Amino acid sequence: MQISADLHVHTTASDGDLRPGEIVSRAASIGLDAVAITDHDTLSGIPEAISAGKKRGLHTIAGIEISAIFNPGTMHILGYFKTCPNGLEKDLDSVQEARRKRFPQIIEKLNALGFTITTDDVAVIAGDAQIGRPHIAKALINKGYVRNFETAFSHYLAKGKPAYVDKEKLTANDALSLILDYGGLPVLAHPFTLELEAYELKLLVEELKNGGLMGMEIHYPEHSKAQKKLYTSIAGDLDLFATGGTDYHGPGRSAVNIGDSGIDKRSLDIMLDNFNQR
Ligand code: AMP
Ligand code: ZN
Ligand code: FE
Ligand code: FE
Repeated sequence: MQISADLHVHTTASDGDLRPGEIVSRAASIGLDAVAITDHDTLSGIPEAISAGKKRGLHTIAGIEISAIFNPGTMHILGYFKTCPNGLEKDLDSVQEARRKRFPQIIEKLNALGFTITTDDVAVIAGDAQIGRPHIAKALINKGYVRNFETAFSHYLAKGKPAYVDKEKLTANDALSLILDYGGLPVLAHPFTLELEAYELKLLVEELKNGGLMGMEIHYPEHSKAQKKLYTSIAGDLDLFATGGTDYHGPGRSAVNIGDSGIDKRSLDIMLDNFNQR
């Protein structure tokens, strides 16, 4: 498959390592037709990305990734917008505040586990970004407590591990409505992280569709062939468009590079067509 668009990329506005402008440059230089910036709970990277996209002649899509309440797995909802949705950032106040509230609680747990790490150590790394566990992982790596991100998560930070703290999240329906209210297209991100059996997933996606879900992220580095086949069939049955992307967070985070995963031109056109129908 010739990949035309990578619709899932993080920047320094959340937990990515590259600035929005650098992401767009890289996406343009590998010849993509489109890239979507989908930072966690913020649109603050979008203006820089869009202006870089204009300079480089790359279709740059304003996006977001919102965490929703779900157990025992993890649910993320992506939203894509025709233009940067002014006003949405204000409505994200509560989820941004939840991130600020959670991170000192994680630090406390790490301290209790014997690590010498302060909120300042992490704040310096995060800067203005929406703070997330990867910033904490980075501090642990810098201090020599863990070798890499994978170890930081699998030993301490991942859901169910000793330094995990849940943050207040929106319900799935509220996340969908928020995206829809601003004219966006809501898409279920990386369905494998829901950790559901096929029949449970189908039921859940049906519910989400009733709440306004329009698409499903099918092409994703960690999805197996069998998973892609299952998700394609569910999306087909429920008339959801297919998206895909890498969830790129920067060089050195994993072996995956921008554009390694995504959708072809035909799927991109189908997705973009939805903007015109809204
Ligand atoms: P947070 O926004 O604080 O919930 O952190 C979520 C982010 O942590 C994800 O978007 C990934 O960037 C990263 N992450 C989650 N699980 C892992 C993992 N097992 N290994 C490495 N990074 C992870
Ligand atoms: Zn992330
Ligand atoms: Fe995600
Ligand atoms: Fe992501």
